[in-house]
Amino acid sequence: MTGTLFIVATPIGNLDDITFRAVEVIKSVDIILAEDTRHSKKLLLHLDISKSISAFHEHNEREKTQAIIGELKSGKSIALISDAGTPLISDPGYFLVVQAKKEGLRVIPIPGPSALITALSASGLASDSFTFLGFLPSKKTARLKLLNSLVSRTETIIFYESPKRILATLSDMYITFGDDREVCLAKELTKTFETIHTDSIPNLIKYLTTDQNHQKGEFVILISANDKIDIVEAETQLDSLLPILCAEMGASKAAKIAAKITGIDKKQCYKRAINL
Ligand code: SAM
Repeated sequence: MTGTLFIVATPIGNLDDITFRAVEVIKSVDIILAEDTRHSKKLLLHLDISKSISAFHEHNEREKTQAIIGELKSGKSIALISDAGTPLISDPGYFLVVQAKKEGLRVIPIPGPSALITALSASGLASDSFTFLGFLPSKKTARLKLLNSLVSRTETIIFYESPKRILATLSDMYITFGDDREVCLAKELTKTFETIHTDSIPNLIKYLTTDQNHQKGEFVILISANDKIDIVEAETQLDSLLPILCAEMGASKAAKIAAKITGIDKKQCYKRAINL
């Protein structure tokens, strides 16, 4: 019998945010893998579990994976935990999970907290459709380039940010998104200084700069969806699209498709199509 690899979610701050199942798995496995063994020892102490923990982090994930696969093949059960939240979500474990699945080993997720879902659930921003991008690039040029590519997205955008860059990132967001977008800063979730602020970007910059303490802690940033179509961009798109569509089909059908693609009213598209 081969062993099982459990991917166990642990708290993102408040140590009581752990499921009964997660505790049972941590208690029962042969090996616990954790990013920072000292950090995870505090969780185990809180849970009254005394067990040794083996280090598994981004710098040793690749070299340790083969040995871990060997342990699983020999029947050992293993729990992977990270410093906070769900492993693999901006945390180590992806390489290990891929290799374990390639070997036909059982990988069982034990669900629990993740900062992005926790933040989204209380942000007041649209939760029906969203994109999570992990950490933004630390270099300004790359960060601005990425932010620019997100301007016309029609779903909530979520990313993680460190306190070191929170102000620089908000400033870049102001350059890119201007002042009419709602943004949520979800800070220190589940901890004593939890703050969930949804406001315009200039107001959030004001909030961060009025008190240096406001820049401390762990952040999730959420940007509201673009609910307005860029009419100039849509018109340009319509100009190039309509002649192509009209060459292939009647004006009515072409107008219907063009309206769907550009977001411009169907009647307006039809008028343009018959006057080509
Ligand atoms: N695996 C974690 C998860 O499931 O959310 C994320 C780990 S990632 C290395 C750490 C980042 O997650 C932090 O820099 C911060 O952006 C975000 N984060 C983690 N805990 C948080 C908390 N309590 N409040 C706000 N953001 C948090």
